[in-house]
Amino acid sequence: MTDAVVVGSGPNGLAAAVVLARAGVSVLVVEGAATIGGGTRTEALTLPGFVHDVCSAVHPLAASSPLFTTLPLHEHGLEWIEPPLALVHPFDDGPPARLERDIDATASSLGADRERYLALVGPFARQWSALAIDALAPLHWPAHPVLLARFGFYGLQSIERLVSRFSDRAASAMLAGIAGHANRPMSSAGMGALALVLASAGHRVGWPIARGGSRAVTDALASYLITLGGKIETNAPLRSLAELASARAVLLDVTPRDVMRLAGDVLPDWYRRALSRFRYGPGVFKVDWALSGAVPWRSPECARAGTLHLAGSYDQVAAGEAVVARGEHPEHPLVLVAQPSCFDATRAPEGKHTLWGYCHVPNGSTVDMLPRIEAQIERFAPGFRDIVLARHVMPPAALEARNPNLVGGDIGDGAYTLRQLFFRPVVRWHPHTTPVRGLYLCCAATPPGGGVHGMCGFYAAQAALRDEFGIATSIAS
Ligand SMILES: Cc1cc2nc3c(=O)[nH]c(=O)nc-3n(C[C@H](O)[C@H](O)[C@H](O)COP(=O)(O)OP(=O)(O)OC[C@H]3O[C@@H](n4cnc5c(N)ncnc54)[C@H](O)[C@@H]3O)c2cc1C
Repeated sequence: MTDAVVVGSGPNGLAAAVVLARAGVSVLVVEGAATIGGGTRTEALTLPGFVHDVCSAVHPLAASSPLFTTLPLHEHGLEWIEPPLALVHPFDDGPPARLERDIDATASSLGADRERYLALVGPFARQWSALAIDALAPLHWPAHPVLLARFGFYGLQSIERLVSRFSDRAASAMLAGIAGHANRPMSSAGMGALALVLASAGHRVGWPIARGGSRAVTDALASYLITLGGKIETNAPLRSLAELASARAVLLDVTPRDVMRLAGDVLPDWYRRALSRFRYGPGVFKVDWALSGAVPWRSPECARAGTLHLAGSYDQVAAGEAVVARGEHPEHPLVLVAQPSCFDATRAPEGKHTLWGYCHVPNGSTVDMLPRIEAQIERFAPGFRDIVLARHVMPPAALEARNPNLVGGDIGDGAYTLRQLFFRPVVRWHPHTTPVRGLYLCCAATPPGGGVHGMCGFYAAQAALRDEFGIATSIAS
């Protein structure tokens, strides 16, 4: 008999399974889809020979995850590729802002704001490994209280407030584009935290991609899990918790909406009511392109970047995100683009390329954003449309059909309101536990939230090991 069952094989489900198996607990992972990986899958979505990251593509959090960096994932095929520039944020004229691993080089691209950028981001970038342990965690007594207090001071601010210190357009626009990953308006408190996390991780490990595609991350986790004795079943959607009654621990890499559905009457009313207050955020409209050549960027620096944020000035980024927050569709959205085939030859036939991109839309939107997304790319790469060989488009409903955790196309598994930055999915000291004995939550709707880092899985597994098996575990053990 299996001691623990993990439902869902996203990076958090697999991370939880690895932590349990590493502690000597027998584990079975059941995945509803035909393949493992959740939001970390790579598929041939367009033409033969072109492979595309269906969801996650760029991995500063995975490459610097306190958990993943302790696991032998490179021995199981995971290889990071770091593009020369992590991120480029182009403008209609003049040089783009750029984020590089070297913080001095980054600051030098920010004109008059050089010293102000170094003062804001430098302390977190220099101590990112220490900060990651406290920032990628539920509320707890911090290991580095002074550093975390400083991070909290800036992180709790809105981007609007954080960039008011800058005088040049480059730093403001770049930070706004980075914060855009949280899919919230620039006036929201707490947005500073995400911008500082992604910038600091970038200065520590770059914004790398995985050779062969993002599935290499979850394939490596699965391969390591199997060496530890774990088992994985695909095409095995859980329809009711009652199916797993014999397991000592059940860990759900399942979004709160579906936790309520699967659990039926098992959840006490107060907990169900609390879960039903959990709020989902806006969705995304995702596009993958097969291209006959490299994107004809106007600025040569764009060709050296793994990721690009296309929207222009701070005001243009902020305006687009504010429109989405109002439940409408921006005419000129912030478009987030990655060009993995420029740095990884396995992604496309020789001489040809792939491009990955999305923009934010209201939750459940049915509006076709393809023309607006391509217009933003054309703005910075005239002639782009002429090199498109094929497109694969996923509006919110298509994303959710592939993975039920993407409710209404929300890729963060819940909105990043100030409350839900700290308390996910409910207000609870141990948020990965539930009031039901043996039942734990490990999806990105728990702290520390979205992104490929496996830390939600680690904290859920740690709680299950402690409460069900009497085993104490730490990140490195
Ligand atoms: C378009 C897009 C772009 C993204 N880009 C990035 C990026 O560049 N970098 C980054 O770090 N993150 C990115 N993310 C976010 C990242 O993919 C997620 O935060 C991460 O995958 C969450 O991991 P998870 O394990 O919590 O859930 P998921 O990865 O969503 O996995 C959940 C799994 O559980 C399975 N499941 C659900 N219900 C059941 C059930 N009842 N029975 C059995 N199985 C079930 C699902 O099929 C799925 O496989 C992106 C996401 C999307 C959608």
